[in-house]
Amino acid sequence: MVRLEVKGVSFSYDSTPVLEDVSLTVKGGEILSIIGPNGSGKSTLLRCIDRMLRPRLGTILVDGKDINALSRGEVARKIGLVPQSERAHFPMSVFEMVLMGRRPYVDWSPSSRDLKIVSDKIEALGLKELATRDIRELSGGEWQKVLIARALAVEPEVLLLDEPTSNLDIRHQLEVMDMVRRLAKERDISVVMAIHDLNIAAMYSDKVVMLIKGKVFAAGGPEVLTPCNIESVYGVKVKVLNFSERVVIIPEEPTPSSSLI
Ligand code: ADP
Ligand code: MG
Repeated sequence: MVRLEVKGVSFSYDSTPVLEDVSLTVKGGEILSIIGPNGSGKSTLLRCIDRMLRPRLGTILVDGKDINALSRGEVARKIGLVPQSERAHFPMSVFEMVLMGRRPYVDWSPSSRDLKIVSDKIEALGLKELATRDIRELSGGEWQKVLIARALAVEPEVLLLDEPTSNLDIRHQLEVMDMVRRLAKERDISVVMAIHDLNIAAMYSDKVVMLIKGKVFAAGGPEVLTPCNIESVYGVKVKVLNFSERVVIIPEEPTPSSSLI
């Protein structure tokens, strides 16, 4: 069943259009990757879906319901966002930070169920040893995992990830993405992620939307990541190698910068 539907969304910060007529659908359990160069509108689209920004035109539906018709609490419980770059400047333990994900549910003090959910997410992200650590003392990768654990603690129906692997080394990238995929399937969560790493997008996405200047250039399964489409979107010639399960996208020689020299 379609969980998230974005229909003809256009958005402008001022007079300059940033998104134009963007449409996509994501079912429960699916991962959709939004790819496109810096400034193509990926984060803006995620913020529209999270209702932090209001599109000029178009509709966003979750479970068939317009998000504008939902209460703030409903949006907070249905949609979890891991923002692109949010660094902590206040003292708080990892456990307390992940517990903030339960805020849309907690009245006065967290229930034993809330605490159990938080412990489970900390465990799932491999953060158990860090649970009492001050969040200001974490590495970039550890921090990224804490943000993902916090979003998962919401137990959202729609999980929005803005460049979730950008601070992670290759082992942690694969670990986090394996976990996201497993949870998406097990919990029937619809995942929308903005991602720069085309190999991660190719390996983990059920669907890919390629943006150029806020417009959908191509959309479909990971097979839309063709050398021709990638060149149109990024202006870089690539080869796509397929080693059975693993897709590897590598730049072809010469790269654009070296060809300028
Ligand atoms: P991406 O995530 O793909 O890099 P963004 O959605 O962050 O792209 O930005 C899309 C465009 O909107 C860019 O041109 C950016 O400069 C502009 N933009 C982003 N945030 C704001 C803002 N708060 N006010 C005005 N313009 C913005
Ligand atoms: Mg962005």
